Amino acid sequence: MTDRDASLATDGGLPLAHEQVDEIIDDLNLSDDVRETATEFAKRADYEHPINRAPSTIAASVVYYVALLKNEERSQKAVGYTADVSEVAIRECYQEIADLESDRVAEMQREAHREARWEKFMDLSEDGWDDPGQCWDHEDCPRDGCDGELQQQDRFNAMCLTCENAWGHVRDQTTHYLQNEDGEIVVEKPVAAADGGTEPDGGVDR
Ligand SMILES: [Zn+2]
Repeated sequence: MTDRDASLATDGGLPLAHEQVDEIIDDLNLSDDVRETATEFAKRADYEHPINRAPSTIAASVVYYVALLKNEERSQKAVGYTADVSEVAIRECYQEIADLESDRVAEMQREAHREARWEKFMDLSEDGWDDPGQCWDHEDCPRDGCDGELQQQDRFNAMCLTCENAWGHVRDQTTHYLQNEDGEIVVEKPVAAADGGTEPDGGVDR
């Protein structure tokens, strides 16, 4: 990588951990998703919370750990062989990194969970699920302290007529959900069993 060459030139030829990540990633044929997070972790190990180990060990351990987190696991043996680092060193060092990055890892897992939920919804919408009708009409506004009621705007949106807050509507086989702008579910209600898609109170007119 060109930025690797540049930093080699400026810091006297001692590559930092994050500068060694790319080559290991390439050799192990890991994804750019792993590359991005491994580089982020390695940079923090270089600059924010120095670990008293060789940069090559840190780079190998970060790659091992992030690949594991992202379901692209490579064995400690394979990573060690590629990076010329002992398996024992990787085993010890990746646990230090796991401790240091525990908050970030928890956040990543929440993101992944949210994305997985979204993918489930997207699959269903591509299948062409039925129009929700007015399924959120006259439901109580989920916002704290608002006594308003909701009105379904279209298949993807419901709005409170009083506070004018809007939520995204998604559903799966059994449940309708409203999401806030962070994609968090704020309220849910079951899809009517009888009709498999349209609402039980389908007589509501707009
Ligand atoms: Zn409201």
